[in-house]
Amino acid sequence: MNCYLCGSKIPQAIRQTRRRVQTGDRFVRRNGRISNRKFTFGMRVVCSACARRMDRKRDADQLIRNLGAIGLLVLLALLLSFN
Ligand SMILES: [Zn+2]
Repeated sequence: MNCYLCGSKIPQAIRQTRRRVQTGDRFVRRNGRISNRKFTFGMRVVCSACARRMDRKRDADQLIRNLGAIGLLVLLALLLSFN
């Protein structure tokens, strides 16, 4: 079994880790013209290093979203206090 992302061999003894990864993309056509690009996702076996990297990235994205929401609230509070 090989990692779907980096291709490194995953020993059989290790419990296989599956993650939702991008498996491809396709174009949505409307009236013969490309109107949208859709990514397809699927569960694939990845090695522990890639799984960790994906988890870290997901956590980082989550943190950025949270910080963004907090920043928006702070901005709103500042705007209101100045009026
Ligand atoms: Zn990998």
